[in-house]
Amino acid sequence: APAIVWFRNDLRIADNPALTAAAHSGAPLVALYVLDDDSAGDWRMGAAARWWLHHSLASLAQSLAERGLSLTLRRGRSHYVFEQVVAETGAGAVYWNRLYEPWAMRRDEEIQSQLKEDGVETHCFHESLLFEPGKLRNKMGEVFRVFTPFWRACLAAPPPAPPLPAPKKFDAAPLPPESDDLDAWRLLPINPDWAGGMRKVWLVGESAARAELAEFARNHVADYKAERDFLGRVGVSRLSPHLHFGEVSPRDVWHAITEPDSVGGAAYLRELGWREFCHHLLVAHGDMPERPLDKAFERFPYRHDVDALDAWRKGETGYPLVDAAMRELWITGWMHNRARLVAASFLIKHLLIDWRQGERWFWDTLVDADLANNSANWQWVAGCGADAAPYFRIFNPALQGEKFDPDGAYVRRFVPELAALDARYIHRPWQAPENLLRDAGVRLGETYPRPIVDHATARARALAAFAEMRR
Ligand code: FAD
Repeated sequence: APAIVWFRNDLRIADNPALTAAAHSGAPLVALYVLDDDSAGDWRMGAAARWWLHHSLASLAQSLAERGLSLTLRRGRSHYVFEQVVAETGAGAVYWNRLYEPWAMRRDEEIQSQLKEDGVETHCFHESLLFEPGKLRNKMGEVFRVFTPFWRACLAAPPPAPPLPAPKKFDAAPLPPESDDLDAWRLLPINPDWAGGMRKVWLVGESAARAELAEFARNHVADYKAERDFLGRVGVSRLSPHLHFGEVSPRDVWHAITEPDSVGGAAYLRELGWREFCHHLLVAHGDMPERPLDKAFERFPYRHDVDALDAWRKGETGYPLVDAAMRELWITGWMHNRARLVAASFLIKHLLIDWRQGERWFWDTLVDADLANNSANWQWVAGCGADAAPYFRIFNPALQGEKFDPDGAYVRRFVPELAALDARYIHRPWQAPENLLRDAGVRLGETYPRPIVDHATARARALAAFAEMRR
């Protein structure tokens, strides 16, 4: 009987344990991807991630086809899809790699028992993380809530196994089940087509991901620690969407870093460690995307301010670094980590808007939108997460800009209306002398907004709100 390989966020051929095990089982294969918005509910994929998914599936389908296997696409609740596909193919086994989103874990358990009842074997593999969630515990036997000891425990554990090679050829089931047409899923925006900026900056799919990883490992890891916080430079790997969709595995990345003890290598692996930490937290706290881990924050007096939220989303706050960040997100579907920190902090602390509003916007606009990383990081910035930044540490967006975008290249790229402004004022145009503004063609309040809140006032208001919560 055929074996079904159920692809999810592991859209690759190399180092794919479920695919390799199914291929080695000797059964003829059926490759399946299910677009299951019903099971995902509120956390179904956002618009930018759907754009990515389209291209990633197209790329996977092509590499499978080159090895003799066609990819079947189906849409709907996985439970029904499996009833149908098992009936159509007479499959005797299903292979998949585990996911750690709470909704996906619930669904997978249900499917496992459903398949067992029907006499179909299931084989699940652990691959999307380096260390299995729940296994690493602190001295009290609890899941870690502080990153540094967590990462120390990871580094002391047996290292992740070397990645598996890509199978060269597959034995396909003679009659693959019928597939939906990928275009008919309408994952790509049509009217309006907002994906032009994304097409310019991304190459999607496994071979592009591998090439990026190899290039980064060869030329940039050594400088990672020194460069990673600077905006508008090639200091970071930009692998996040590839990792989210599983076009490369974390094991691939781990083993590509050939000098893990060097300054750059260790700093880079530590960031992969944050990815692990966020996922382990999500498994331990399934409500992390919706509820603060620190329950005191249930009482935080956030404001409702539709206009301010709208200005933030559009990148029209009058703070050039925040605006560049939000426009980078809108145009490219990605934002540099330093910019994410400043933009998120601005929403939560300067505008006093609930972190969950920001989390939602990122969910819809990031190509790397990832339930664990997104929610853990938003909570971290909001001060309510595990090992979180203390609430009273409030970024000054102008100073952050001067530090991490000293010549203003990042702002000039994404906020073109400030492109000609003198570097001394590029992060604080409201303080620029009239003649410099005039020379740069900037008219505050007309071509570029004045700050929607004053930094000192906003800071005092945020601290007062925090004190109120603590009372
Ligand atoms: P690099 O610096 O090259 O790091 C390599 C990899 O390590 C990344 O690809 C990522 O998988 C992981 N990583 C790095 N930093 C973090 C971190 N702080 N937390 C978890 N993993 C990390 N990352 C996402 O993948 N998806 C999200 O939805 C997401 N939302 C975020 C929201 C906020 C408010 C903040 C502050 C951060 C968020 N991050 C998210 C984490 C981080 O900003 C991105 O992973 C990183 O910027 C991706 O760029 P890169 O691949 O060049 O990272």
